[in-house]
Order: sequence, then C-alpha cells, then structure tokens
Amino acid sequence: MKLFAFLMMMALPVMLRATSLPQNEPFPGGVMVIPLPVQGKSIPRVHMDGKRIMAVSHAGEWFAVVGIGLDAIPGENIIEFQSGGAAPQQLKFMLQSKDYGIQSLTIQNPELVNPTPAELRRIEREQLHLDKVVSRWRNTSHPGTAFVWPTQGPETSGFGLRRVLNGEPRSPHSGIDIGAPTGTPLHAPADGVVADVGRYYYCGKTLTIDLGQGLFSVYCHMSKIKVHPGQRVKQGQIVGAIGATGRTTGPNLHWTVRLNGVAVDPHAFLGANAPAPKSTTASAPAAATMTVAPKLATVKAPGAASTGN
Ligand SMILES: [Zn+2]
Repeated sequence: MKLFAFLMMMALPVMLRATSLPQNEPFPGGVMVIPLPVQGKSIPRVHMDGKRIMAVSHAGEWFAVVGIGLDAIPGENIIEFQSGGAAPQQLKFMLQSKDYGIQSLTIQNPELVNPTPAELRRIEREQLHLDKVVSRWRNTSHPGTAFVWPTQGPETSGFGLRRVLNGEPRSPHSGIDIGAPTGTPLHAPADGVVADVGRYYYCGKTLTIDLGQGLFSVYCHMSKIKVHPGQRVKQGQIVGAIGATGRTTGPNLHWTVRLNGVAVDPHAFLGANAPAPKSTTASAPAAATMTVAPKLATVKAPGAASTGN
C-alpha cells in the first residue's frame, strides 16, 4: 500500500513555482490576469465590487488575478487598486462572452432529483456556510496558483455546462468532474491550509483548502477525508479519497475552484498539468457520474450556483 501511494505521487506532474501566473481568460468563469502599474514590495490592495482581489508578483511586476463569475455580464468592468499610501486608482478591463454548451440528462430516481422542504432548508444553511468559508482572506505573498491534477482519472464533465435535468434548467456546472473508482487517492492541488471539512447535501463529504488570497479548492463526494481544519497541506499530499457521498449518480470527484468568492474553471491554474478530457460533450449518457445539480430557483442566497455540483 505504501509503495502504491509512493507510485501515485511519482505519477503526478513536476511541481511548478507557487508564483506562476494562471492563464488569462477574459470571460465569465475565467480568471483575468491584469498588470498593475505599481511598484514596491508590499502586496497592492485590489478590490472589485467591494471584494478583495488577489495580487501576485511575477518577474518583478505586480498583477491582479481576478475570478470572473459565470453570471458576470460581458463588457466593461472596473477594479480598484492601491499601493502603499497612494490614493486608490481605477483600472478598466473588457470581458468577452463564452458559450460553454448545454448538457441534457434524464434521471429516473425522483428522490435524487427533488429535495423535500426540510432538505431545502438544509441546502440553504449549507450554502450560506460554504459561501462564508470561501469569503475568508488569508494573506500570503505566494498563493497556490499552480495546480497539479488531483487524482488518477480523466475529466468526465467540463466546467460551465448549462445543465438540463429531466427537461428543467439547473445551475451551470460550477466545477469539473473527474471519474475514478471509490478509494482512489486525492491529492492537494497546491500548498494551503484546510479551511473546512463537512458532510453536505449535494457535495457529500467535502474538503475545502484555502490556497491563499481568496483562492480555494473544494473537493466533493469524497469517501474519506484524511486532514482536519487548520492543518497545513503540501501540494501533492494525499488528503482523502474519491467516493460517491452526497447527491451523485456514482463515484467521482466534483472539483470546484473559487477565487474572490466565485467559481472559476480549474484549468486556469493547471496549465499543461491536466490530462486530455475523456468526454465533455453535451451528449453524455444518463449513466455518467455527476452531481444532481440544484434547480436554478431552489435557493435565493447569493452564490447559490456555486456550492459545487
Ligand atoms: Zn460536477
């Protein structure tokens, strides 16, 4: 077993430096990397819509790293930045649009599809809790922005897909799904601190890792979690195992990455460290393992679409 774990570690790609810049993706669900006209050693204070935004130093320059929500409206957007004692300044950037496609599914089991009123109250509570967890700010000059692939398995469902379940529109896919048998080890995507461990209605056994400056990794449907809140984890470290807990049609990892509170495509932080997807087409069969996503109007809390499904 020890040798097996060792081989799994060896199979993971070589670690990248923690200060690597993510891919610049100027559209909803993407991550924007915006050069900041500031100098100095201290981290500039960047905000958008009142939320603190990540700022990293790369090759002697400062960059704002902005998570763009799937519900963001294409067009002109503004960030505000401030360095040292200088007055705040504004920077405008343009957002393009992106069509992620539609995935239609039919699921027969009505219990899996329609939560009871008591379950709906539970879902609302849990979404508020998880939104609070990922709105924390941990100051670090080296947030974990260069990920390794978290497990041995192919991507089975892509980010951003607009899902239609039994003919009803559901929340868009807030993460990517990776298919692998129950018990397959899961690795931390980057260095960080465990922010939350819990068992939730949709997400099942869930592990949230704080990667610094508002960047979080959320693993869902786990069978086992091997770390505890407050614990520091290293990139590649085994933190648990794949499972089928929560509302899912089979074992898989649903992986959500949140930046400044919003769900963004994990590929922005993976670069070449991701295997080719198995199938992210819109015609996946009903047997494909996936979370049964909440109805669009199920919960009115902000960020309802991003609990991980
Ligand atoms: Zn998913």
